[in-house]
Amino acid sequence: MTDRQEMLYRVESDPDWNTIAAGTARVSLHPDETTPEVIVVSGPCPRCRHETVHAEPLVAYANALDASGLLSRLLLRRAAETGSREVEVICACPAAHPEAGESRGCGASWVLRVEWGV
Ligand SMILES: [Zn+2]
Ligand SMILES: [Zn+2]
Repeated sequence: MTDRQEMLYRVESDPDWNTIAAGTARVSLHPDETTPEVIVVSGPCPRCRHETVHAEPLVAYANALDASGLLSRLLLRRAAETGSREVEVICACPAAHPEAGESRGCGASWVLRVEWGV
């Protein structure tokens, strides 16, 4: 990467990035593709083009709300049946973008539709 001038950090999104990311993102489902608990999206940020990784937990909220795990199992089952999720990815590239302050990445966010078990 030989950017002579780094892109300024700015919080923004653009519908075009959704389209670009759909063609470049790599998606993996953990622990498996039939009952995923975490979606991991990696690939180049459509704004700054640096590699970034995003992990989207599918059952984290249920675990926080219900210690018995019943609700989390119900949600997990529902997630598996639904088989799709709109994942909002926020750039968290390791590059230092000017004006980023405490934040990581360049500030860009985009939406990736992930499907499984279909
Ligand atoms: Zn970047
Ligand atoms: Zn970026």
